[in-house]
Amino acid sequence: MAGKSLGERLAAGPVICAEGYLFELERRGYVQAGAFVPEAVLDHPEVVTQLHRDFVHAGSDIVEAFTYYAHREKLRIIGREAQLEEMNRQALRIAKDVADETGTLFAGDICNTNIYDTADPASHRAARAMFDEQVGWAADAGVDFIVAETFSDAAEAKLALAAIKAARLPAVVTMAVHRAPVTRDGMTPEDCCKMLADAGADVVGLNCIRGPKTMLPLVERIVAAVDVPVAALPVPYRTHDGEPTFQSLRDPHCDCLPGEMPFPVALDPMTCNRFEMAEFAKAAHALGVRYLGVCCGAMPHHIRAVAEALGRTPPASRYSADMSKHAFFGTDKSLKAKNREFSREL
Ligand SMILES: [Zn+2]
Repeated sequence: MAGKSLGERLAAGPVICAEGYLFELERRGYVQAGAFVPEAVLDHPEVVTQLHRDFVHAGSDIVEAFTYYAHREKLRIIGREAQLEEMNRQALRIAKDVADETGTLFAGDICNTNIYDTADPASHRAARAMFDEQVGWAADAGVDFIVAETFSDAAEAKLALAAIKAARLPAVVTMAVHRAPVTRDGMTPEDCCKMLADAGADVVGLNCIRGPKTMLPLVERIVAAVDVPVAALPVPYRTHDGEPTFQSLRDPHCDCLPGEMPFPVALDPMTCNRFEMAEFAKAAHALGVRYLGVCCGAMPHHIRAVAEALGRTPPASRYSADMSKHAFFGTDKSLKAKNREFSREL
């Protein structure tokens, strides 16, 4: 598949995209929860390279530059605005190197600005300027396409899309839907995605915030409403009707949280296992989703489960579980019978 464009790969079959780098590098100790700025790009570039490699090894078809939240507003709040361009260009270089060495697609990434305000036209111009500068650096780096993600407002997503289209690049645009199943500016997900597809988005859909169970019903409606490929990249958490987002999840089994909310650093007990993520991939694919991934919380074993559920055998499948060789639970005839019998005591 190396060398093919996003459009050609989508025409040939589903495409897998690992996201959620902030959460994974936070767990590994290279990103600070709260501001969630990808400072590791400058401070520990080698761990960003390794994370990209880990996700490709597990089955990602795309290496996305780690520029989520590497924008002017986020760098301002951590006092590193002077390094905005350096951070973006370095993130793009790191991602391009891994995409080149692995034959995967190389994507730029822009996202929610956190300054956009429906009622304030000046904020619209400022957001557009933030998109334009990041899209410009991505275009310079030679990206295959740009992901514009995690937008709560339909109109902000449309501004991001316009910036990408002005650079004549393909655009994947995905919305973040919170507790209420509408955008912050009041559109249904399907109307919003139809609007974005009509405005030229090459792929539309949802990412982040909702886990598989509470994202899939919305995605089904999007597939029915648009003619372009649809994306679904849930967070790997067990959200449900009563707690549909990862911010609304509560953990009744833990009494030592510093507040009510397990989000963002104590969601571990609600994490979907690999079998649940495989079920998500199968269900999403059956609904017609063609761009599948996992957002905040994603780990490489989740991506491998998605890939294998779609019939792939990424390099990491070499090490997929085989319990037949387990000393106690295994079935291999050469294992000690005494240990196998003892398995009932474990
Ligand atoms: Zn996310």
